[in-house]
Parts: sequence; structure tokens; C-alpha cells
Amino acid sequence: VAPASSPQVVEQVERLTHDEVVATLDAQLLPRQVATVLRRSAFYREKLGAVGLTPDEPLGLEELGRLPFTTKEEVLADQVAHPPFGRLALGDDLALSRVHVTSGTTGRQLLVVLTARDVQETAAAGARAFRCAGVVPGDSVVHCLSYCLWAGGVTDHLSLEAAGATVIPFGVGNTKKLIETIRLVRPTAISCTPSYMSRLQVVLREEFGLSPRDLGLQKALFGGEGGLQDPAVRGAIESTWGLRAMDANYGMADVLSIFGAECAERRGGLHFHGQGLLHVELIAPDTGAGRPCVAGAEGELVLTNLSRQAQPLIRYRTGDVVRVVATGGCECGRRSLRFAVAGRSDQMVVVRGVNVFPGAIASLLAEQRADFSGEFELVVEGPPPVERPLLRVELARPAGPAEQPALAARVVALCRERIGFTPRIELLAPGAFPRTEGKTRRVRRIAAAGTGSQA
Ligand SMILES: [Zn+2]
Repeated sequence: VAPASSPQVVEQVERLTHDEVVATLDAQLLPRQVATVLRRSAFYREKLGAVGLTPDEPLGLEELGRLPFTTKEEVLADQVAHPPFGRLALGDDLALSRVHVTSGTTGRQLLVVLTARDVQETAAAGARAFRCAGVVPGDSVVHCLSYCLWAGGVTDHLSLEAAGATVIPFGVGNTKKLIETIRLVRPTAISCTPSYMSRLQVVLREEFGLSPRDLGLQKALFGGEGGLQDPAVRGAIESTWGLRAMDANYGMADVLSIFGAECAERRGGLHFHGQGLLHVELIAPDTGAGRPCVAGAEGELVLTNLSRQAQPLIRYRTGDVVRVVATGGCECGRRSLRFAVAGRSDQMVVVRGVNVFPGAIASLLAEQRADFSGEFELVVEGPPPVERPLLRVELARPAGPAEQPALAARVVALCRERIGFTPRIELLAPGAFPRTEGKTRRVRRIAAAGTGSQA
């Protein structure tokens, strides 16, 4: 396992507390940004004009709460009505550098556009995050997120380069070629989703007769899925591969590609890296009421771009529910906000009043590696309230009919004791779930009999 004591570059803004960042950077940048957005964007002139906001009357930070939220559905509808990019802050004076897509809510993808300055600022925040997660000059990183339209490929690539790493642009698919490339180039690190590691392990064994440690990877930089904050999930990956697994890459392309990563101390949660670029709010997902950003607070993350030129968002509902872990100092030298991602508000299943996130189920199963592979799916049928959802769990090894009731009962007991809900269980044979290279869907909602929809 690589040493945690690599020389760390901690930027000045990372030495400020959350409150200090808000009082200085946010308070200064927000009024200017809102005025600029109102001048440039017909979308926001209309939306914010409705609550009486004009470009000539600057909005103080303390007044932000009176503005309406912006949702992904609205941005998408704007793009549909005014193709291709919508009227969202695209002044004629803005030259666009890049177009990405990000997932929409109804299967339709959202286009994300960036100017040269947006690209540069995105990479700067990403570099801050990757450095925090332990990337140092001299690292070589094989980068295995999609370069095809999605931001994870080229955007994270540039962030890794900005952090000083050598980057091998691999993308997704062709796992055999990936293994050959790793054996040839011998990178120190891999950047991918945690679930891809199990796919990699299978191909290593079946096609090469090798074990994970034979690749000599020292660091894994993960993003795109939760779960790594659970010691059992992380421990399983680290012991299998003999590397240090870091939650290095949290963000969303439509707001800022990367703005969260943990540090070498791993004291829980991700350090915030969007200083000067994002203003953070927490709200109750159901009522939209604001919640103070203090240790222990939980709420949906609402973000406002403080500097973005193309497609800047104001009070954007991200759909991610986060918990503030700490707002003070960390032994790594950073005093930035630390937060843990509880899950997607739309992946959250409320079972008899208990918030059930797929990540919590993943954690339980990770502790039971001898019997369960860790692959699962929670099936929710019909409209709320949900009483007893079906949990389909994949076995790690073949189990006979005599043994299955006890295995199922163990999962039910763990769900009840640790999460507080009681599922129905279906056990599946090893390998029954397809191994994906992107994000794995864990919740399937069935609206009516026979029609499935993915949430
Ligand atoms: Zn730290």
C-alpha cells in the first residue's frame, strides 16, 4: 500500500473554513454573478424577473433564499424549446469551448457547454481534488471513464494532468486491452468506478491467469458511485488489489465536474473543493426549507455557480442528499467543509418512514463477502407508501436449497438491525447480474404490473 505521507499541496483557499469562504469569496462573487447572469440569460431574466429581480439591483448573499430553485427538468425543457443549448446564459459574446452530455431524468440527455474559462476553472477544482486524494507529480494514471461525450473522460483527464500526473487516456470497454496496457506502461494508479474493479478482476483471472496484485497498481481514484466511505467496501478492494482506494472524484458535470475528494487522513467524508466556484446550500428534499450548513446537518445539496460563464446555474437542485461531517480543521492542513454523500434523493426509497439508500445495503453486503458478491437490486413496486420492497441479492458462491433460507434470513436481519427496514429476499446465482463499466443501477421502480422503469 502506497504511503499516505506524499507531499501535499494545500492551496490557500483550502485553509479557510466554510464560513470564511462564504463570508469572503461567496459574498463578493455572488452579487456580481447574478447580475451577469441576468444580463446574459433570457432564461434567468424571465425566471428571476418573476420575483422582481433586475440586473441593476444587486442581490446580496443573504437574499439568495428568496430566489426560486432551478431544476434539471427546467434546463432540459429550455434546451428542448430552444435547441440545441437553450437560452441559459449564452450571450453572443461567449465563445464555447466544449460540449458534454449528462444524464437527464427521463432518459433524455442534458447538454453541458463550457467556455475556455469554464474549462480552466473546472480543471483547477478537479486538480485540487485529485491532489487532496493523493495524486502527486510522478504518478501515472490510467483513466477509465467514458471519453464519449460524458465529462468524466476528458474533463477528469485534464484535472489529473493539472494535478501533475501523467495520464493514459483509456476510456471504457475493451478490458483485455486495458490489462495489456497496464502491464506494458505500469501506471501507479487507476481512475474508474469502484464496480469496474470486479469486472477487471474477472478478466484478469479468466484471460490472463493473473491476480489483481500482479498489476502493481498503488492507488485507485474512484468516482461515479458511492459506497467507498464504508470501511468494509473499501477494505475489500484494498486487500484484493494491494492498493490505496480513494474517493477522489465527486461532482456533477452540469454544475462542476469535480468538487469533492477525501484526503489521506480519511477522517470521514469528502473535502469540498469548489471554493470560489460554487455556493453551497442544504435544503429539506421534501419541503425545500433551508438547513444550516453545520456539522451533522443533512439535506439535498443546492448549488449556485459563482463564476461559470456558459450555462451558469442559480440555486440548482442536485438531487444528492449529503451530510455535513465537519466544518473545522483536518489533520491534512485543510479547514474546508467535509461532507458525506448519503445518496440520490431519487434513489432514496422511503420504507415505512425510514430513508433507505442503496449505499447502506452495499455496505452490509460488503461485510459478507464469503457468501454474497455485493451485487444487488432493490425492486420497488407500485406507488408509495413502500411496505416491503424486494431485495434481489447475488450469491458469491453456489448455495443449495437447504442453505438458502438461512442466507436470506441473515440479509433480512442485517437490513432490519442496521438500516431499519425489512425487505423480501430473492437470492440469485453467482454472476447473475451483468458487470457494468459505468454506474450501476441499484433501485428499480415498477410503476404498474409488467412495466419497469429505472430510477
Ligand atoms: Zn483532510
